[in-house]
Amino acid sequence: MLKSWFLQPLWFRVLTAMVAGIIAGLLLGPQADALKPIGDLFIRGIKMLVVPLVFISLLSGVISMPNPASLGRIGVKTMALYLVMAPIAVAIGIGFAVAFTPVAGTPVDGLLEGGPPDAKSVSILKLITEIVPTNPIAALAQGDILAIIFIALLIGIAMIRVGDDAQPLRAFLGSANAVIVRITGWVLETAPFGVFALIAWVVGAQGLAVLVPLLKLIVCLYAACLFHLFVISVLLVIGVGRLNVWRFYRGILDAMLVAFSTSTSSGTLPVTLRCLEKNLGVSRSTSTFVASLGATVNMDGTAIYMGMFALFTAQAFGVELGFAQYAAIVFTGTLASIGAAGIPSASLVLLPMVLGSAGLPAEAVALVVGVDRVLDMMRTMTNVTGDAIVAAVVGKLEGTFDQDVFDGTRAGTDSAAENA
Ligand code: ASP
Repeated sequence: MLKSWFLQPLWFRVLTAMVAGIIAGLLLGPQADALKPIGDLFIRGIKMLVVPLVFISLLSGVISMPNPASLGRIGVKTMALYLVMAPIAVAIGIGFAVAFTPVAGTPVDGLLEGGPPDAKSVSILKLITEIVPTNPIAALAQGDILAIIFIALLIGIAMIRVGDDAQPLRAFLGSANAVIVRITGWVLETAPFGVFALIAWVVGAQGLAVLVPLLKLIVCLYAACLFHLFVISVLLVIGVGRLNVWRFYRGILDAMLVAFSTSTSSGTLPVTLRCLEKNLGVSRSTSTFVASLGATVNMDGTAIYMGMFALFTAQAFGVELGFAQYAAIVFTGTLASIGAAGIPSASLVLLPMVLGSAGLPAEAVALVVGVDRVLDMMRTMTNVTGDAIVAAVVGKLEGTFDQDVFDGTRAGTDSAAENA
């Protein structure tokens, strides 16, 4: 029995755990809180992997790239796709809110208790300057992903230039890589248990009664994210990447489910990287570079939510928005999605900035604090999928991609496509 459980593919086990978690949450109610430490342990386990995995994977990916010059092109294409997708996502959020008026029927007055979280502004200039760390060790210790990407690229390029003298470092990295990949595999085997506990906790703690007043907003966000996932993203996967959508989604499912249950795209990164390489055949260097960058700056689900929530607020307070306000929402919503950290409820602290840009009251955020986890799950799943799509599309465009692994005609290893 136990053996046949472990023989099932991970996505199947995680999905089963999710259904079992929902049932356990409904049966146990608030008592499901007792399961939360198991979920926390899983989240701690995957977070523990993020820094070593990104650093070692990216570095070993760069030094084994057949054509290191293509790194620049990969960077430009990645950023271009990220920057195009974010405003589109905000506009989708606005569109769905205009079409479905999620505020209708929401007892706004009764829900407005407590103040909004403190607003956080995003300075893109600061984000850019801090990519260069003053202390690389501190950047690693603090898990500063953009700075870690920078250091890894720098060391990797220097190693290529140094040539033979860097051989001992190459050998060391090769071993370190094998070890971290093995540990990742172990931690991921615990995913079904973590997911079960987290879903049971969310369902038990939130209860349907809390969700009912905001049900329309929740449904509206889920619908908009699904539209993004299955229309916009599919267009990208087929139109730009010329990839089979079904295979793509099957390959990335583990990461989508883990993102949904943990609500953290940074934490899900080890799973995303593994899916990209092992199931979809995207090379180690491309997957690590694109997905790590994406976990920090590309958040389509968050962007959708920024647009939608601004409109929800305008509807709640009866504010008519003009063209300038819509433009401000798209602009600040895009910035907020770039600046949001890949952690649970990161959106909450950035919403006031978006609302403020259109002259809307920040107090509205207090309306959704209680149910944010349910919204966050969908946002995070959309965020992670968006990163994976860009990684697969860029990999395909740049030829750093193994079609046989993607097609399932050859089993992927953890560095399957490096020499593709
Ligand atoms: N939890 C989301 C993420 O990690 C960010 C958000 O709050 O929207 O991607």
